[in-house]
Amino acid sequence: MTKREEQKYVELIPQEQKELVIKRLQGRGALVPCSRCGSGELILEDGYFHLVVQSDLHNISIADGSPAIPLIAIVCRNCGAIYLHTLIALGVFDNAVDEKDNETLDKK
Ligand SMILES: [Zn+2]
Repeated sequence: MTKREEQKYVELIPQEQKELVIKRLQGRGALVPCSRCGSGELILEDGYFHLVVQSDLHNISIADGSPAIPLIAIVCRNCGAIYLHTLIALGVFDNAVDEKDNETLDKK
């Protein structure tokens, strides 16, 4: 990687977070060859994704504060299939917000 390329490259997910995601996927038996093409060349995409949760199919909006599911994506380098996993189920999502909610519920 040239110096110029190094300057352009910004790591979107911290390395320790990536390692934790991979460890959790392995621990759950979820790092297996691609179910579409059988390739073992799978990579963790560098970045987080969200699925917006909505109750209305006709007024789709992504900027109205709708709840969203935080995700990571495993991508097959051979066929491009994408596998999404919720950070919550993997126990990787920063649960500081959940802890704060629990404190609020305890006080009620
Ligand atoms: Zn594939």
